[in-house]
Amino acid sequence: MVEILRLPVLRDNYVFLLVDSAGGRAAVVDPAVAEPVAAVLQQQDLELAVVLQTHHHHDHIGGTAELLARWPQVEVWAAASDRARIPLQTRGLAGGDRLVLWGRSVEVLAIPGHTRDHIAYYLPAAGADGPELFCGDTLFAGGCGRIFEGTAAQMLASLELLAALPAATRVWCAHEYTEANLRFAITQEPENQELLERLKRVVKQRADGEATIPSTIGIEHATNPFLRCRQPALQAVTGATEAADVLAEIRRRKDVF
Ligand code: ZN
Ligand code: FE
Repeated sequence: MVEILRLPVLRDNYVFLLVDSAGGRAAVVDPAVAEPVAAVLQQQDLELAVVLQTHHHHDHIGGTAELLARWPQVEVWAAASDRARIPLQTRGLAGGDRLVLWGRSVEVLAIPGHTRDHIAYYLPAAGADGPELFCGDTLFAGGCGRIFEGTAAQMLASLELLAALPAATRVWCAHEYTEANLRFAITQEPENQELLERLKRVVKQRADGEATIPSTIGIEHATNPFLRCRQPALQAVTGATEAADVLAEIRRRKDVF
């Protein structure tokens, strides 16, 4: 049984810890900074075993060197194709790879678009534990990452790969952008009742100082415009028919919102 802890760091990043309490060990996804991670590990008397990296941006790999200095035996999982920009990796991965983390299987998904070599980690359901997705900066709650190195067509394919995961999959994305994303989304799809309800819920959560992560794939299907590029309402509002063109236009609008 793996427990997931969410650590808010920097301005709006989340670092996630996967904790195997019985084994006294943990893995960390995208340690933007080391200190808060080290503090939790120390408090809970856990050894760090693995660092999982989704992409090379500094707010995802910034703490890795310091964690390695403290736990030198740590494995660093990252995209092999991005070794130049994620140089501390010890285990180079590619889309389609399957690993096992303390009895839980981990599937690597290639999801280019935000960066050329972005990957996600998907843990299928196992026994009483539901499916979990760590998707970095590609799929956000209510939105998606900026397209820095890919094309709209690549981002669409990446998002559709994630959208095909089971609806119950918990989505652990790396930033608390949900409220701003939904405030934009409602301008594109003002008739979407589920989106309206979600926006209200999220505004309240944020006012109360609560995190909105994790989301689920099911919630994203119903309310995230970037997963709805084949919906007639979004085709109409963008004036595009091809899904990649719809996505490109919504992304362009969001960039200047
Ligand atoms: Zn990023
Ligand atoms: Fe980021």
